[in-house]
Amino acid sequence: MQGDLEGLLIFLRMKYLIILADGAADEPVEALGNKTPLQAAKKPNIDRMAKEGINGRLVTVPEGFHPGSEIAHLGLLGYDVAKVFEGRGSLEAASMQVPIADDEVAMRCNIICLEGDNIKNHSAGNISNEEAAVLIKYLNEQLPTFRSKTSFTWQDIKFFEGVSYRHLLKIRRGNKHVLCTPPHDKIGQPWRPELTRAELPEGEETSLLLNELILWSQDLLSKHPVNQKRVAEGKDPANSIWPWSLGYRPKMQTLHELFPDRIQTGAVISAVDLIFGIGVYCGLDKIEVPGATGLWDTNYEGKRDAAIEQLRQKDFVFLHVEATDEAGHDGEPELKKRCVEMLDERCVGPILQEVSKWKETVRVAILPDHPTPIKYRTHTMTPVPFAIWQNHPSAPTEPTTIVADGVQTFDEDACFQGSLGLLEKDQFIKYFLDPLNPPA
Ligand SMILES: [Zn+2]
Repeated sequence: MQGDLEGLLIFLRMKYLIILADGAADEPVEALGNKTPLQAAKKPNIDRMAKEGINGRLVTVPEGFHPGSEIAHLGLLGYDVAKVFEGRGSLEAASMQVPIADDEVAMRCNIICLEGDNIKNHSAGNISNEEAAVLIKYLNEQLPTFRSKTSFTWQDIKFFEGVSYRHLLKIRRGNKHVLCTPPHDKIGQPWRPELTRAELPEGEETSLLLNELILWSQDLLSKHPVNQKRVAEGKDPANSIWPWSLGYRPKMQTLHELFPDRIQTGAVISAVDLIFGIGVYCGLDKIEVPGATGLWDTNYEGKRDAAIEQLRQKDFVFLHVEATDEAGHDGEPELKKRCVEMLDERCVGPILQEVSKWKETVRVAILPDHPTPIKYRTHTMTPVPFAIWQNHPSAPTEPTTIVADGVQTFDEDACFQGSLGLLEKDQFIKYFLDPLNPPA
């Protein structure tokens, strides 16, 4: 009888959890005694993962790409970014459950605030979802009045409502080879020189169309009662659309297709549409947690409980926490350190405690997608530290392969000494899923 039970237990599936601390890596900060936020933070649970686990550093952003979260996430999950990346809009479309047809191009469409000749901000003063929804609906209703000098008609165009200033635009027969400016890169600068232009001759018509749409929207939006009310209240009006980051529907294999004997089912937990979108294309279920804000005040307990719950049911869970990245963008060292501590105490600690009781092997990795150094307040290309840890169940699902490598703490310098060294491309995900067959 005992033998039969043990035989059954061997067939329990492996469980995998990735905890992604967005932008957590950094550089030494004077205000933290020349330590990085990861080094300055009190984080006994994350350090335990490094101490009992196996460590290294990972190149998440391939040469020639900007270190955006979407690129870094695709990179760390092992995708060939050059082959699968189709812009932000198409990823966010997946999260918004907007299908993209074969003949359509999708793009992010901000509603922004112009002041005279300049871009005042990329967010229309962080306009509310309710106000934004009215404006996006109004643009769709007015589309029949739009006339283009190109071969496109209004029926080729459709806006989709997202969150706050972040929306989506789809163009039937559109071409993705159009150069656009992310509006957050040009705050306080003239907008006219930043209108779109063709990257290749085949993008010419789409570029002309987008510029026509921008001008058309300015006329309509500036007169709209929602904006007139905002101006009267001293708020920034959303007086122009700003399309950017064009792409077709990504042709991505799911994680199950890539690793059929490791991942059957999975889930992604985040507060960010971009990350949800990547998760959806990876074949993961999108799990929304009430009170997940993407900021320091996020619902850590809710996210942790969702992660544990999903891990009970599925093979693979991706838990994304944005707060550290935002603190980096805001240039706040104390807050960034505190965000690491909250992640440690309220998420990582309880998760490790819980899975330590489970009967099957649970392997957990922690890493950032890229550094967001306080010093620069933006992302950098520097490889990120990672730690891979696993529980020690009474009937392990497979032989123990994760053995301590002498690293004592989780940070940018310590993990550099880890036994896995510097990994790139799909080496991290392959090792994480199957250390017995490490990639070349
Ligand atoms: Zn990021």
